[in-house]
Amino acid sequence: MRFVHDTLSQRVRFASGEAAQQLAEEVEQLGASRLMVIAAEQEKALAHDVAAELPVTVWHHEVAMHVPAAVAARARAVAAEHDVDLLVSIGGGSTTGLAKAVALTTGIPIVAVPTTYAGSEATDVWGLTEDATKRTGVDARVLPRTVVYDATLMVGLPVAMSVASGLNALAHCVDSLWAPRANPINAALAAEGIRALSAGLPLVKADPTDVEGREEALYGAYLSAVAFASAGSGMHHKICHVLGGMFNLPHAETHAVVLPHVLAFNSPHAPEAERRVAAAFGADTATQGLRSLRHRLDAPTALRDYGMPEDGITAAVGPIRAAIPPSNPTPVTDDNLTALLRAAWEGAQP
Ligand code: NAD
Repeated sequence: MRFVHDTLSQRVRFASGEAAQQLAEEVEQLGASRLMVIAAEQEKALAHDVAAELPVTVWHHEVAMHVPAAVAARARAVAAEHDVDLLVSIGGGSTTGLAKAVALTTGIPIVAVPTTYAGSEATDVWGLTEDATKRTGVDARVLPRTVVYDATLMVGLPVAMSVASGLNALAHCVDSLWAPRANPINAALAAEGIRALSAGLPLVKADPTDVEGREEALYGAYLSAVAFASAGSGMHHKICHVLGGMFNLPHAETHAVVLPHVLAFNSPHAPEAERRVAAAFGADTATQGLRSLRHRLDAPTALRDYGMPEDGITAAVGPIRAAIPPSNPTPVTDDNLTALLRAAWEGAQP
């Protein structure tokens, strides 16, 4: 074995039903007294419950998908105007992403309380969108100091969003097995993440208020994000990033649709990843394991259902090929990439 691995420094508090209490303890430990709580309009009531007892100086509810630069600028101005000393984000990846945009330029620490399985809370990756182009980068300042995981905050996340978001987390696990900085530590985290997600998501699908299923999926989502943060973006993330930016596709659903196609594309040339994924699913092969889980979850199948135009397939091939790491297990050509995108666009079985 020969590898380099960075472990990011972050505290995780995992306690279902205790977000308010855990958050209060964390704020006290950090000695913060001027909080900016960031939560989207939709999660406003939930956020006010969780942060009711905290020294909140300002509430901020303007959150938008993919963090538009203008939205980030307004949030930064609010933080400066109120001399904020701690950002508390309560919500999905879009909310965490806005807190990260503020932290990126101000250095104000973040405590994140996630309410989806996106996993942004456990990475040092930021994203900002301007002129229909999403830029991403890595910066230690955007890694939340602490994450408070409370599975009960997710019981209101609709089943379809839970499934898509959970498969987004699963994609972090699978892609980390062949991403540029793939290593045995990420692989161990990813395998346990796949096991936990594949155990938890069917329980969530059967009963979205089942806290045990929510916990299992949330634990898996955290592991997936740690593996992804360390391994970097592989072929799957590059495809989703380009498509999302070009056609303004919904993030989680795009990941959910594309994943089985990338897994089938890379598996024949990535035997170790194939073996690990299959074992984590408890299936004969990786593709069978994912197919069976997706069937149980009634997972999204076609990019055309989410607004991607058919002529977008040809338009996307060039930018995607340019972005895919040269170390990808299966060599990528215009032809095999076009075939993959077409299959994902029309919802063909990989
Ligand atoms: P999102 O945050 O936009 O949330 C999706 C929808 O779910 C929204 O309408 C939101 O209001 C709703 N919602 C969230 N929590 C809810 C709850 N508990 N109950 C009911 N409704 C709820 O979407 P997302 O998929 O969580 O995040 C996607 C964004 O995160 C993308 O911009 C993506 O690029 C980013 N992301 C970043 C990283 C990173 O490492 N930087 C990792 C993953 C995702």
